[in-house]
Amino acid sequence: GSTIGILGGGQLGRMMAMSAAQLGYRTIGYAPEGDNVSHSVNDEFISAGWDDETALAAFAERCDVVTWEFENVPVDTARAIPQAKIFPDPLALETAQDRLNEKRFIEGLGGRPAAYAKCDSGYDLESAVDRLGAPGILKTRRDGYDGKGQWRIMSVHEASALKFPDAPCVYEGFVEFDAEFSVILVRSQEGEIRFWDSTRNVHEGGILSASHYPATKEIDAQVAEARELARKVADALKYVGVLTLEFFATHGGPVFNEMAPRVHNSGHWTIEGAATSQFENHIRAVAGLPLGDTRTTAARVEMRNILGSDIEEAHRHLSDSRAHLHDYGKAEAKEGRKMGHLTLVSRDTRG
Ligand code: ATP
Ligand code: MG
Ligand code: MG
Repeated sequence: GSTIGILGGGQLGRMMAMSAAQLGYRTIGYAPEGDNVSHSVNDEFISAGWDDETALAAFAERCDVVTWEFENVPVDTARAIPQAKIFPDPLALETAQDRLNEKRFIEGLGGRPAAYAKCDSGYDLESAVDRLGAPGILKTRRDGYDGKGQWRIMSVHEASALKFPDAPCVYEGFVEFDAEFSVILVRSQEGEIRFWDSTRNVHEGGILSASHYPATKEIDAQVAEARELARKVADALKYVGVLTLEFFATHGGPVFNEMAPRVHNSGHWTIEGAATSQFENHIRAVAGLPLGDTRTTAARVEMRNILGSDIEEAHRHLSDSRAHLHDYGKAEAKEGRKMGHLTLVSRDTRG
């Protein structure tokens, strides 16, 4: 059988590895030491630094293809893998790792992000708030996730009182949205694209808390335009694998929030709610297999994230015939940390 290398050791890699195993592939995980949770599912796991050239070369040598589950894998690390072996192209990482780059790229394709301004100092921030207004959100350009590296700014006064972060940032005008949704697609090595249905995503404190299918009429009406942009992104990056774009549904149509060049938390519902999950189709795409059917197979699906210390408590849902529990096996529960998720699937309209 062939071997698939996965850069990153989190729950996304773990679920990817489970799909790979089902399809008969071996997986080798690679990530720096830390709280990795894919090693119990990977056939092998290499703990080494992102800049460990010797370890990376040995890893690449032993894999037939390499992919990633973590969007902050350094671009140099991804480029150290022979180009013919790594999917998606590391260009996707390079484009998405910097929020400023990402927004410019999206605008270049005709997409519409929230109003934004580059900010490298408190002075820049004050003039950005002056120009774009408040409320708004200051975000570090790099390394943010789950709402980390973000500051809500309610007024010019707050902008001048803030101790400016020690990193390049962007200021974004606050989008008055009706709802949030994501577009998740898979693109094959031949350039075929398939989309999953879009769910309504609910965030609390900057962290995804739930996704709901069906979404809403308002969202459904904006999915076509959002997909058109996602398709352009995927084609422009010659993307292979699963790609996610997050949107705000507004009165004026879909506003782009951010993209993730990987499988996504808002697609976890596809494991039980779609004919082929995002994880299986990602593996199929990077391995050069035909793509699987992405259609939704349930009348209603709800995915709830289990954050912090609630994983034991979630076991009580197992007596619900609709429930599927996923425990990522994380040793240490921290507040706001994604410990697992629960998917409630109603197979018929009575659910
Ligand atoms: P992740 O990568 O885990 O999705 P992140 O840290 O990159 O999260 P964002 O997606 O930028 O964070 O923001 C998190 C959430 O904060 C959004 O889903 C949305 O609910 C809210 N938010 C972010 N930016 C804006 C904005 N410009 N206007 C309104 N709400 C926003
Ligand atoms: Mg993000
Ligand atoms: Mg986000």
